[in-house]
Parts: sequence; structure tokens; C-alpha cells
Amino acid sequence: MPELPEVETTVRGLARYLEGERIARVTLNRADLRRPFPPDLVQVMTGARVTAMGRRAKYGLIHTDRDQTMVFHLGMSGRWRIEPEKPEKHDHLVIETGSGHILALNDARRFGSVDLAPTATLDSWGPFAALGPEPLGEGLTAAHLKTHFAGRIAPIKQMLLDQQVVAGLGNIYVCEALFRSAIRPDKEAGRVTLPALEKLVPAIREVLSESIAAGGSTIRDYAQPSGELGYFATSWQVYGREGQPCLCGGTVRRFVQGGRSTFWCPKCQK
Ligand SMILES: [Zn+2]
Repeated sequence: MPELPEVETTVRGLARYLEGERIARVTLNRADLRRPFPPDLVQVMTGARVTAMGRRAKYGLIHTDRDQTMVFHLGMSGRWRIEPEKPEKHDHLVIETGSGHILALNDARRFGSVDLAPTATLDSWGPFAALGPEPLGEGLTAAHLKTHFAGRIAPIKQMLLDQQVVAGLGNIYVCEALFRSAIRPDKEAGRVTLPALEKLVPAIREVLSESIAAGGSTIRDYAQPSGELGYFATSWQVYGREGQPCLCGGTVRRFVQGGRSTFWCPKCQK
């Protein structure tokens, strides 16, 4: 599933072809992904100029000069194909730019989505209204986490996956950040100290930034806009490494929390 770093690298990849460009043609090859495409999508986007690209949580943002932003989510298997040599079966939405670039949104499993939202009030748009701060933005601080965690007995890992606490953090990155900051994933959130949270926040940023720099990590269905696969997966320290040695000499363990695998080192994380 594309995570925040993959969405960020996708947005950066698309920006090279879209920013400042006028959209000449939008083609929909079916009526819906997870939900129907907006009925006015083709009309709004055709002829619009892309003023900027952005990202909020795991959503990509294509801002236009029509005060509307096209918001896309890659779901489980979505990816943008840049200048595809030939159409593929699951190219559900295809954009052709004024300079002739072709960009195809391919989503075999169709858990993704495309919406239009008013640019000026994007922060209060439905799916964004309740989101917590961006993990790479200034809003995420140890104090912010301390406030949200106060009195909570839920495990810290579960709390970090709550999009209202931090936006866009996924399972892999939470496991890795908790390892780097030496915090047990099953520790009650309310009992994690401020100094520990002061280590956790930079650890979250590091893990995400390294992954973005590496071009987004790869799990099964994801490909970068260029079509190349990422390779950051090989540098995870605990995720997917059950039974393998930790740097400390201990062994990486796995257990299931909230239906998802948690990987950690019992010697390093207290
Ligand atoms: Zn260890």
C-alpha cells in the first residue's frame, strides 16, 4: 500500500510534468474507483492550469487556477504512469497536458479515489477536517503528542496510527520510529514520558525523510511515477524482520496489534 513517502515521491514526480501546465484533455475509462469520479471532473480539469502540487496525509493535491483542487488517493494499488508507452488495462484516468505529456492513474484494485475540493477551504474539506498535523510539518511536536496521549491507556503504536493524532503515518513507519526512539510499541500512550516523545518526533521525521529520499519504499503494487521500484525496504531495521538479529545482538520480534503486525526489539525498546 502506498504510504506517505510514496505519495510524496509521486507528487514530486508528477510536479515535473504538471506544474504550470495547462491540461488539454482528461479521459475517464470507467465511472468510478472506490467511489464515482466527480460528475464535473472532466469539465473542471480540461483547460485548467495546474498552479501547484501538494500533499496532505496520504492524499496528492493538484491545485488549479479554477479554485478547485483535484485530490487523489492511491488506495492499495494506485500509481501514476508517466508517459506510458501504451495504455494498460487499469489506466482509469488519463491526463494529457498542453505540452503533450501523458499521465495515467492506474489502479488495479480500485481502492483509490479522485475528488474535487474547493482550494480555498481545503483544510475543512470532509476527509481533511479531522486530520492531525503533518508528521513532517511544524505542528507535530512532543507537546502535541503529550496532550493527545494524556490519560490514554491505548498502546502508543495504536495512537500513532490514529489519523487525528498525526496525519498519514502508516504501520511500517510507526514500527521503525518507535524502534529508533527505543519505545515499546505496546506501552500505554499516557505513560510515555516527554523526553521519550522528544526522541520520537525526530525519529518519525527521519524515517519518513529517508524513505522519501530513497524514492519511496516498495511493497508489492507500488511503483514510482518513473516506473522504477523503490528500494528502501532493505534498510528497515525491524519491519518485516521477525526472528532476525537486531543491531544490539537481540532478536526482532513480531506480534499483532489491532489486526496489524508490530515488529520490535524487546532488548532495545523499553
Ligand atoms: Zn535491539
